Amino acid sequence: MRPEILFPLFAPAASLKGIGPKIAPLVERAAGPLVRDLAFLCPQGVIERKRITVQAAQDGLVQTLVVRIDAHLPPSRRGAPWRIRTLDETGFLFLTWFKGGGPHLETQHPPGAARAVSGKLERFGIEAQIAHPDYLLDAGRLDDIPLIEAVYGTTAGLPSRTLRRLALEALIKTPDLAEWQDPAWLARKGWLGWRAALERLHDPKTVADMDIAAPQRQRLAYDELLAHQLAMAQRKAARRREAAPIIPASPVSDALQAALPFRLTGAQNRSLSEIRGDLLVGERMSRLVQGDVGSGKTVVAMLAMADVAASGGQSALMAPTEILARQHFETLSAPLAAQGLSVMLLTGRDKGAGRAEKLRALASGAVDILVGTHALFQDDVVYARLDLAVIDEQHRFGVAERRRLQDKGASVHLLAMSATPIPRTLELTQYGELDVSRIDEKPPGRTPVATRAVPLPRIGEIVQRLKTVVASGAQAFWICPLVAESELMDLAAAEARAADLRQHMGPRVGLVHGQMPPAEKDAVMQAFTEGKVSVLVATTVVEVGVNVPNASIMVIEQAERFGLAQLHQLRGRVGRGVRESSCVLLYDPPLSKTGEARLDILRKSDDGFEIAERDLALRGGGDPLGLKQSGFPAYRFADPIAHKDLISAAADDARLILARDPGLNSPRGQAVRVLCEIFDWQAALGLTDAG
Ligand code: ADP
Ligand code: MG
Repeated sequence: MRPEILFPLFAPAASLKGIGPKIAPLVERAAGPLVRDLAFLCPQGVIERKRITVQAAQDGLVQTLVVRIDAHLPPSRRGAPWRIRTLDETGFLFLTWFKGGGPHLETQHPPGAARAVSGKLERFGIEAQIAHPDYLLDAGRLDDIPLIEAVYGTTAGLPSRTLRRLALEALIKTPDLAEWQDPAWLARKGWLGWRAALERLHDPKTVADMDIAAPQRQRLAYDELLAHQLAMAQRKAARRREAAPIIPASPVSDALQAALPFRLTGAQNRSLSEIRGDLLVGERMSRLVQGDVGSGKTVVAMLAMADVAASGGQSALMAPTEILARQHFETLSAPLAAQGLSVMLLTGRDKGAGRAEKLRALASGAVDILVGTHALFQDDVVYARLDLAVIDEQHRFGVAERRRLQDKGASVHLLAMSATPIPRTLELTQYGELDVSRIDEKPPGRTPVATRAVPLPRIGEIVQRLKTVVASGAQAFWICPLVAESELMDLAAAEARAADLRQHMGPRVGLVHGQMPPAEKDAVMQAFTEGKVSVLVATTVVEVGVNVPNASIMVIEQAERFGLAQLHQLRGRVGRGVRESSCVLLYDPPLSKTGEARLDILRKSDDGFEIAERDLALRGGGDPLGLKQSGFPAYRFADPIAHKDLISAAADDARLILARDPGLNSPRGQAVRVLCEIFDWQAALGLTDAG
């Protein structure tokens, strides 16, 4: 139940003065449907409206003046502006209307009247002018024109000043609430109370108030982060209360491990014991294993699945594509079968009687481990006893899909795997309700991929070299990015590149792209895997995780357009076999300073975690990482870079609060509940739910 004190905040925005049916949809697009959303609408900058005389006014700045109306100068011909000549003791100021002028102005502002006017002033020779003043008020209302005015984003087609007025209107409805932050922490930070902070946000007193590091902005960011961390911690706790099968480490798994042709790395061992720790306690596991492509996540999952099989349960390993599922099936079948475990593959290709037979085997419990694609959770797929769901490339699946697989058993442990290492701070925000294991060490014997940045005009050299190595039996990926507005144009570019390469090196050049039917795509990928295709030209659809050990060259066109994590992942597709491997980052010169620095990070590091941290550090505010698309929560106040330290503090704070007062019943707990309500992470849960 929402406390009554919050009702005004959760009233529809349309209940505010000045929001009629015409602008209501625009307000909803700009801010959201509620009064709260307007109060929480973050300004993007400030305008200073310095008070000045005509003589001292500067060209090109927004300024405020007190003037007397001298004369109206109606248009001399059609299309000419309406002008008002005004003056103060130091000179004339012309106010100009190109649109919307007319005799009504004369009625409102008769000659002799004293007016306060504010807007962008321009000088033409000796003449000073403000076209379409932002404010033109009775001089007595000078103080209604702010010295510093918050500016709001106008993407929804509402002028900034309308949004400002509505935000201030919403602020009036905003109640003062009991403090939920720890008083000592507030004092140490020198932060304002919550309502005062909001007030300062919309009504800044100095230009510095708008800074992302300004105390009130930090305070609000911290509130938001704490609410989010609390929501995630509460859900984690709820999950832990769900009983799930206890699965001990098994001799079968040990034998499987002993039979591997290699020893696990330290990081693999650590992840495996973390998983085993989870599986022992009788609570439902939700663990994410993060590790670079090639870091050996699959083996770890395999050993956990063997434990599950030994305790009488089934596991499902779900991959985003047919070809990945097939590869997993091929690597897993032999070692698992050697331990007497049965592995089966189920994909969209299974049809009719063959599929029915497989489903019977699954339902009877004859299958220990089922590997496949989306086929694994279709309605008629019934498991005898599904205890563990392993999701490879977890970000390629929607929340609903992951859940559908988990719903195939009474209480199914979840093991998600991701080849996109993300920085610690983002880990807390993106995966706060999961437990995370990191495989931050590569299996031994890998030679790092030699990485070079080459300007596009030197593409000829690259093609020549490629021709030589391909002639000696090597294989290469050639990535053409999705950059144009239309996918068709990108496709044309990729087709042209493939044709061009064919001219130089013959017909063994294949092409895959996003618009191909899946079966056709799989066929080309398969031909490449089997070595029938030497050079694979691809838009970025090349599947993360596809294992083609003979591929030793990765060429990426327009590398400057990719995120570093993505470049690193692409590069991870080579360097898996015995050949020396190389990665060529073709860029369109000239590179910006940051662009140069970014490619440099990639040349110097081969560690996905390090690359992710540095990439994050290089970026400014906003969302240049595309975080919002990649599952990063849509924060209103918090910024992953500027408020990095606040993120970890909020995570600690949330843990502490819940440890001391799990039911949130103490006075502070009550206040904290209100905080959680205000930010409403409960309602948004599905969107950020990584589990
Ligand atoms: P990921 O799924 O993390 O990209 P994989 O599990 O596919 O990586 O492993 C990549 C390759 O490395 C596989 O061929 C696997 O057999 C091999 N491998 C995994 N762990 C080790 C290890 N500890 N030592 C040597 N090779 C390993
Ligand atoms: Mg993998």
